[in-house]
Formats: sequence, structure tokens, C-alpha cells
Amino acid sequence: LNYQASRFLISAPTLAKCPPDDGAEVAFAGRSNAGKSSAINALTRQKALARTSKTPGRTQLINFFTLGDDSGHRLVDLPGYGYAKVPEQVKLEWQRHLSDYLRRRGSLRGLVLVMDVRHPLTEFDQTLLGWADEAGMPVHILLTKADKLKSGAAKSALQQVRLRLREWEDLVSIQLFSALKKQGLEEVHERLDQWLLE
Ligand code: GDP
Repeated sequence: LNYQASRFLISAPTLAKCPPDDGAEVAFAGRSNAGKSSAINALTRQKALARTSKTPGRTQLINFFTLGDDSGHRLVDLPGYGYAKVPEQVKLEWQRHLSDYLRRRGSLRGLVLVMDVRHPLTEFDQTLLGWADEAGMPVHILLTKADKLKSGAAKSALQQVRLRLREWEDLVSIQLFSALKKQGLEEVHERLDQWLLE
């Protein structure tokens, strides 16, 4: 698939306002500031397709991108979570939207979960994995900002996350990634191809 041809389709505040639930899509989730927007921009080789966040947690919209191939292939940028200054009420609202989306979105083929390699598996990352498990939704984890660690430390972080998630190894795959160094792009593209073309 040609990820470089991706372009913005629509923003939706709720699941009800999403584009029609046909075709096939892959969604990106992650804690605010984990590097999700940078990952989407690197994967599509675009500078600002997904907005990198100056004010983390500001975006509460679900953003849809089309691969522009007329086959209904989409990338979906889910709201970042976990920003401390967001009121509890708003957090709960996002969580409800996210869990609804995972359970009900028929065209959703898989979830890419973006984590800072230095702070993997936050509490809400684990909640999200639990929901994905309940929904039988496969998850591909990007341990991003791998360039911030020496190669040995990055590899050991990868091993530790693999170990902690070994009970979910049928549903979950994990890799190192760096948007800055464009590390791991091919591996992600292969996974997305698998999901979107299956
Ligand atoms: P988001 O809130 O998850 O969308 O995170 P952003 O993509 O906006 O990134 C948050 C911050 O981390 C920004 O300052 C980015 O420049 C930085 N960042 C993102 N990805 C990487 C990476 O792979 N390496 C490094 N060194 N910094 C990154």
C-alpha cells in the first residue's frame, strides 16, 4: 500500500460522526506526547499530516486519513490520553469513546499502540490492551523514540515489554521505532499491509 499518498479525510468528535463503517482501517493510540503524531507523519512520509502536539491532550477528535486508493483503506488518529491537566470527566468521556470504537467499529483491523520506549505500559496502555483483548483486536506496539536510548538499552526494553506481554503474544506484536531516525518503518508497513489487505 502507498502510505505516502495518505491525506486528511475528516475529524469526528464521536463514533457516531465517523465516516461509514466500510472498507478497512488501522487506528493509532497512545499516551499524549508518546510520539503518535510523529509516528504517523514518519510512516506516511509527510511533515504535518498528523499534528504534533504543542499542547498535549488538546486534540480530542478522531482524525481519519485516507490512503487515497479508492479501496476504503484508512488510518485513524485517536485522541491521545493521560494528560494530567485534562479534567477527570473529559478523561472518562474519551475512555468511553475509545472502548466503544474498539468494540463496535467493524472496519477496524488492528490497533497500533505507540509508547515511549523509556516509559512503556502506562496504566492506561494496559487498560487499552485489556479492551483490545476483549474485542479480539490485534495490537502492534511501537516502542518509539528508540533513538533516545543506546542500542543495547533499547533492545533490553523491547525484551522486557515482550516478557510482560507474553500472555498476549497471539494478539500482540512489538517493535522498536524512531520517527526521528526513521527506524522501523518497513516493519510497521508490513504489519499494516497484512491487516488492511487481509
Ligand atoms: P503525540 O502527542 O503522541 O502525538 O506526540 P508527538 O508526536 O507530538 O511527539 C511528542 C514529542 O516527542 C515531540 O517533541 C516530538 O518531537 C518528540 N518525538 C516524537 N517521536 C520522536 C522520536 O522518534 N525520537 C525523538 N528523539 N523524539 C521524538
